[in-house]
Amino acid sequence: MQLDVIRQRLRALGAMPLHEQRVLRDWVQCQPHDQGRRRPSDFLPKPVREALPALDAELHGMARLISTHPADDGSARLLVGLIDGQAVETVLLPRDGVCVSSQVGCAVGCQFCMTGRDGLIRQVTSGEIVAQVVLARAQRPVKKVVFMGMGEPAHNLDNVIDAIALLGTEGNIGHKNLVFSTVGDVRAFERLAAGVVKPALALSLHTTKPALRERLLPRAPKLTPRELVEHGERYARLTGYPVQFQWTLLEGVNDGADEMDGIVELLKGKHAVLNMIPYNTIPDLAFKRPSWEKARAIAAVLHQRGVLTKLRDSAGQDVDGGCGQLRARAANPRTI
Ligand code: SF4
Repeated sequence: MQLDVIRQRLRALGAMPLHEQRVLRDWVQCQPHDQGRRRPSDFLPKPVREALPALDAELHGMARLISTHPADDGSARLLVGLIDGQAVETVLLPRDGVCVSSQVGCAVGCQFCMTGRDGLIRQVTSGEIVAQVVLARAQRPVKKVVFMGMGEPAHNLDNVIDAIALLGTEGNIGHKNLVFSTVGDVRAFERLAAGVVKPALALSLHTTKPALRERLLPRAPKLTPRELVEHGERYARLTGYPVQFQWTLLEGVNDGADEMDGIVELLKGKHAVLNMIPYNTIPDLAFKRPSWEKARAIAAVLHQRGVLTKLRDSAGQDVDGGCGQLRARAANPRTI
């Protein structure tokens, strides 16, 4: 269900914008309608009050927890069933974060990612995106939402932007704690820059070489690494928060001295942070994960050369919940 459909239904029952906000806020903050405030019977129109139990059941039914897979680092991969029998994966992250999926599958087909191997199956609706956050909030506090799960958010732009708008207004989540992650898309940059809620931006860079980037991300928009960085820099200056450039470190592919020189040339002096993430092993793929020592040495050198670099290990790798490891697993728990 789209968020707009929910609003239209409430309006048809006589709800004013204030009533819509209230119903949606209680849902997204995972609060019963009467907690800490006046009871709904105090001022919601009678038809809305009467419809609330059925509407609540529908809202909470959009994302159904099928199974939880806790990892050693405090994160957990959730297998989440959608109303039509499809499933997505949502990851509870340490420090009150949640990583949501914006598509079932993905059309970009990055060579080092499991999600895109079967292509795009369907878009996740704005309601289903928010429902993943509500589901997470039923288990632990959520103060940060990253759009880094299954799918390319820029390929489902209307739904993702609607979800961001609700989370950043009624959802009690700071705008820079909403992180829109993309391989790069001019239309997405324009829409995000024009939005009332401007999320932080994470851009998948992965290499400074245009031809290699086209091979690694075969169906990403044809932006060169330099163009990507220029778009990111404009957005960072507009919002005031740094752009996160993502770099999946692949042994023998993008971990050489030439790439490090390219990174310094592209990112030094930019309002940016480079997140270097050693590749998470995926069966059947030929890529190799570099040793942690090597990755740490690379990050240290980049730091010394003037590029703010953070070496990150994906949360939840031991339960296949790390970057690139999510996929459209069967919704039947016996087959997981
Ligand atoms: Fe899609 Fe992201 Fe995987 Fe690339 S890394 S295939 S954009 S989900």
